[in-house]
Amino acid sequence: MKKILVLILAALCLGNAASAQTYSILIKGGHVIDPKNNIDEVMDVAISEGKIAKVAKNISGTAKQTVDAKGLYVTPGLIDIHSHNFFGTAPDHQYENGNLALPPDGFTFRNGVTTVVDAGSSGWRTFTTFKEQTIDQSQTRVLAFLNIVGEGMRGGYEQNLNDMDTRMSALMAKRFKNYIVGFKVAHYEGHEWAPVDRAVAAGKEAGDIPVMIDFGGSQPPLPIEELFMQHLRPGDIFTHCFAQINGREYIVDQQTQKVKPFVWDARKRGIFFDVGYGGISFAFSQAIPAAKEGFFPNSISTDIHTGSMNNAMKDMLTTMSKFLALGMDLKSVIKASTSNPAMEIKHEELGNLSVGADADVAVLNIRKGKFGLFDYTGRKIETDKKLECELTVRAGKIVYDLNGIANPVTIR
Ligand SMILES: [Zn+2]
Repeated sequence: MKKILVLILAALCLGNAASAQTYSILIKGGHVIDPKNNIDEVMDVAISEGKIAKVAKNISGTAKQTVDAKGLYVTPGLIDIHSHNFFGTAPDHQYENGNLALPPDGFTFRNGVTTVVDAGSSGWRTFTTFKEQTIDQSQTRVLAFLNIVGEGMRGGYEQNLNDMDTRMSALMAKRFKNYIVGFKVAHYEGHEWAPVDRAVAAGKEAGDIPVMIDFGGSQPPLPIEELFMQHLRPGDIFTHCFAQINGREYIVDQQTQKVKPFVWDARKRGIFFDVGYGGISFAFSQAIPAAKEGFFPNSISTDIHTGSMNNAMKDMLTTMSKFLALGMDLKSVIKASTSNPAMEIKHEELGNLSVGADADVAVLNIRKGKFGLFDYTGRKIETDKKLECELTVRAGKIVYDLNGIANPVTIR
């Protein structure tokens, strides 16, 4: 009898041991917004071995680090699909191995960003250098749109049609398919459609991957209706969608102050509208009338480089805060910065908190106060809410903690 009792007790103990999980990180009591999984309520998030282990209310068990997220928002790590990270020291190389580009880790984690997609800084001739010196050296996940220009985004090279090679670009994308998510067209000033058509052809050849268009500076401008309806495919991305600059047709009609009817049709056709804020590529004169009609971007991105970050754009969270101020609801702003961009680049394993996904997480605060948000033209709006990053987890490790809300406070 005594023996049986001991056995029963032993079995009970084993049972308990099996159910008492030990996690690496447990984020407690935050308001989880995970648009892909339709979660928008207070929950805990448990992380183990670099992956999301569980998302549920009141998760029990112990953890090496716990994070007190009460009063904060817990979201998938943010994805910025328009950045410039091919930094280097080559004189006059601009965004291609030059000093206008930024090392990602210095600017991502303090903004909750865990994935960036470099938007065409490198081309097929220069991508391997970019991979060796930036992608392979960064904690941030760095992906890339390959410029259709072989050299990449180096002043003087971008007008050279002879360096826009569909076959070589597609070959490079297939060789590095874990990193290259599409092709980029930018800054072309001629009146030919060849740069767009060659990038789209490369997209098809490389396995149906998207093209991102920074529509050039032709005078007079090429019609964007023709771009959306005849040259691009559903799933291609129009970046700088709220730009109002010379040499490019705008999406909002200046006379009627309405989004042009064919822009709505293009959206229905499957063209994605991306912010790509940049130095001069976002104007309230476009974004405010568009927002009034409920025309919000599919994806929010920064076009961050040394120029834009010290001007009106600043960073990902300031850009997201602008859309909150324009009346986009928080869940949609998060969706446009997580699962939507992941879908646009056809990496739907990213931008969500599904169990088993890489544990990339942002813990955000909405700071209350009086804030001014302006665009490059000097137009300013006021707001009482601004997003701020409290903590960032990348691949299961805390990589940024603003106020030491992790216990123990350790950055690895
Ligand atoms: Zn750009």
